[in-house]
Amino acid sequence: MAMVLWHGPAKIKPESLSMAFLSDTLARVKPSATIAVTNKARELKAAGRDIIGLGAGEPDFDTPQNIKDAAKRAIDEGKTKYTAVDGIPELKEAICAKFKRENGLSYTPAQVSVGTGGKQILYNALMATLNPGDEVIVPAPYWVSYPDMVMLAGGTPVAVAAGIETNFKITPAQLEAAITPKTKWFIFNSPSNPTGAAYTRAELKALTDVLLRHPHVWIMSDDMYEHLVFDDFEFTTPAQIEPALYDRTLTCNGVSKAYAMTGWRIGYAAGPVALIKAMGTIQSQSTSNPCSIAQYAAVEALNGPQDFLAENKKVFQRRRDLVVSMLNQAKGINCPRPEGAFYVYPDISACIGKTSTGGAQITDDEAFATALLEETGVAVVFGAAFGLSPNFRVSYATSDAALEEACKRIQSFCAGLR
Ligand code: PLP
Repeated sequence: MAMVLWHGPAKIKPESLSMAFLSDTLARVKPSATIAVTNKARELKAAGRDIIGLGAGEPDFDTPQNIKDAAKRAIDEGKTKYTAVDGIPELKEAICAKFKRENGLSYTPAQVSVGTGGKQILYNALMATLNPGDEVIVPAPYWVSYPDMVMLAGGTPVAVAAGIETNFKITPAQLEAAITPKTKWFIFNSPSNPTGAAYTRAELKALTDVLLRHPHVWIMSDDMYEHLVFDDFEFTTPAQIEPALYDRTLTCNGVSKAYAMTGWRIGYAAGPVALIKAMGTIQSQSTSNPCSIAQYAAVEALNGPQDFLAENKKVFQRRRDLVVSMLNQAKGINCPRPEGAFYVYPDISACIGKTSTGGAQITDDEAFATALLEETGVAVVFGAAFGLSPNFRVSYATSDAALEEACKRIQSFCAGLR
């Protein structure tokens, strides 16, 4: 006899939706703090306030013209239908070529998965592998979504704090100490959101040496900011540094940050075939293929001219230097100079316990960010959202003029703290 698994729509009106109606899963996660700050800044701006938003994690540049043209061509050629769930063959080929060219890593198209942004790729991998009780090591400060995605997937995030004294990088001893028989993944993100810190070849080798001793631990390397490293810094990724880890590493990347394509929603990863297949199964029952047009645009991003990357890097490096220098002139702020990404993560220990000119008690970094927004119109994200306080994150992916004005306002806000 057939079993009825669906009983029709729940007879609950939206306005009477009670907490009891919501899932236990939802209770485990919170909305993204970075998106919340961006929305708040947008609302205040719409209400006529003079707001400078330093909250959003996206380049202020336009998507390069050749990429936009490729998308228009895809539309005109009718490439507007469902595609293979985890990516068109042309894009998988382009991704394999990118890994070979830029990272010295050999992958076949069957080892590649394409999703709706880097976010979906990471989410699929966690959903496809985590069981209740599984632990995932997440260096803190971390990108806001890692712990919540782990919890959504039923796992337990294990934060390992890396403070300003180690330039926001964890040590091999810390990694070793965090590993238990339950550890399933180590999430590695270099250059980092929110700190911009990037691990040198030697620092990464020291971490991969630890991982070699623990064959049950897999590595999820989030290389989203690969192309944003400054001065002579050399970007490296775990599977490249330690080939013996290749069979248990998922190397994740995307076009969002490097090619100013945040709205197009294309992310990708390469790893063992069985894992890639499992990720495809999750995607096949949730969103199916990423947007067909965006996939053709991503082929052009990866195969087309790459000069854009070097130009961008120059602009971001100049802005980093400007922001680090101006923030270090603000009273009570200590801002390290990061190697990459487009974020800085200043320490504000010396500001805690003070009172602002507007009368706000600066009890923690959230109070600092709230008072800063209300009194000066500068929107930043407080450190607690990233798991390390007291700090705040500045995204310097905005114009030099806006950055200069924002830093001046931060300086005068700090000067007014008593
Ligand atoms: N990983 C890191 C470290 C990020 O900062 C972001 C975006 O902010 C992502 C992944 C997700 O990127 P996407 O916009 O492609 O989903």
